[in-house]
Amino acid sequence: MCNLVQKYNIPGPRYTSYPTVPYWDINTFSGKEWERTLIKSFKESNATEGISLYIHLPFCESLCTFCGCHKRITKRHEVETPYIQAVLKEWQLYCNMLPEKPIVKELHLGGGTPTFFTPENLQALINGIFRKAERAAEYEFSFEGHPNNTTKAHLQALYNVGFRRVSYGVQDYNSTVQKAINRVQSFENVKNVTEWAREIGYTSVGHDIIFGLPHQTLQHVEETILKTKELLPDRLAFYSYAHVPWLKGNGQRGYKDEDLPTATQKRDQYEKGKNLLAKVGYKEIGMDHFALENDSLYQSMVTNNLHRNFMGYTPSKTQVMIGLGVSSISDSWYSFAQNVKSLEEYNHLVFNNIIPIYRGHILTQEDVVIRKHILNLMCRLETSWSNKNEEFAQLSETLDKLQEMKNDGLIEISSTKLTVLDKGRPFIRNICMAFDVLLHQKTPQTRLFSMTI
Ligand code: SF4
Repeated sequence: MCNLVQKYNIPGPRYTSYPTVPYWDINTFSGKEWERTLIKSFKESNATEGISLYIHLPFCESLCTFCGCHKRITKRHEVETPYIQAVLKEWQLYCNMLPEKPIVKELHLGGGTPTFFTPENLQALINGIFRKAERAAEYEFSFEGHPNNTTKAHLQALYNVGFRRVSYGVQDYNSTVQKAINRVQSFENVKNVTEWAREIGYTSVGHDIIFGLPHQTLQHVEETILKTKELLPDRLAFYSYAHVPWLKGNGQRGYKDEDLPTATQKRDQYEKGKNLLAKVGYKEIGMDHFALENDSLYQSMVTNNLHRNFMGYTPSKTQVMIGLGVSSISDSWYSFAQNVKSLEEYNHLVFNNIIPIYRGHILTQEDVVIRKHILNLMCRLETSWSNKNEEFAQLSETLDKLQEMKNDGLIEISSTKLTVLDKGRPFIRNICMAFDVLLHQKTPQTRLFSMTI
């Protein structure tokens, strides 16, 4: 495995979309095309499968130095109400444009720190959304909670408006690692917020654990997983720290490159964690995720409904996902669009009745075919091209690129099908990269992605 790690540890996307954001064709994109494709897709799917909503709540009280999210650090809670008003205004602009009332099947509050907001303000936000929308017959509402500031009142308020899933950023329990990433939080806090959620009636509690953090050792990962075992979250994201300081300004400069584990050490951390999780009964889902058998993510994998979008893995697919708030990305299935990142510009646009997108991509027929292969690999660890409509112009070059991975025992390929083998699971991003024709056509001037391991 050691040589394979060195060989395949190259910069690569995490494929929450295809084409990936740096490869969007922003020249052929326009707000009008975004509206046209969104309305087309909405008409096709709202009545039958509903839509997903992602709401970005960007404020945090302090900066965690490992963070790759779009956030604004402030202790001024006066920002809450105007931001909620702006998000509801953006939602109104979408509802005015759509031909019928949206039926919301999935709703996720991400950030930033959603629990920066008071429980009352979060409830006001959700109630405002549903003044113009309906809930689907079966829906899943979830939010990201910070273990240091999630209160029982937050959990109860969101439960009362339909939330049944919460995930907490745990990262690592070791104090040296926590200090290095400026995210000091005790096991007690995580225990409290996990138990409160269960007492209130949440059916899925998730923890996010990161490996490859500064000063993190194999022993730290082991200790973190053993503590996690005590709380037995239903779902776990266990993923590699994405070190991209050249993209994150001051955000990832709180430690030196030599403080980070090497690629081989990271791989060992992952293998150790994965084996410990398997012993507890967690099932590996796609890439970097684990779930207990009772969790909807595991059920969706078994029934072949697992899907991946900008929110990560989700238990069901909706054709339309609308992202509200600064920097949010929307997916109409035929196109992507991203909102402006500056809060001031966002406010200015929405209060002038303009949907605040600043860039996007209209998918070509070839993009659609390749996205399907990448989704298949990410969600089902296999893909096939037995039908004409699953082929694309560069298929034979892609198969040539995969030969080496086949020789290394990572994948099995027949004339019409590729299956990822157990040995290939750590290299799933590399396998997807073979299908990513845009990545091969245009080498970026600067490094855009974190390392694959
Ligand atoms: S990790 Fe979460 S809480 Fe920390 S700065 Fe990033 S978004 Fe904010």
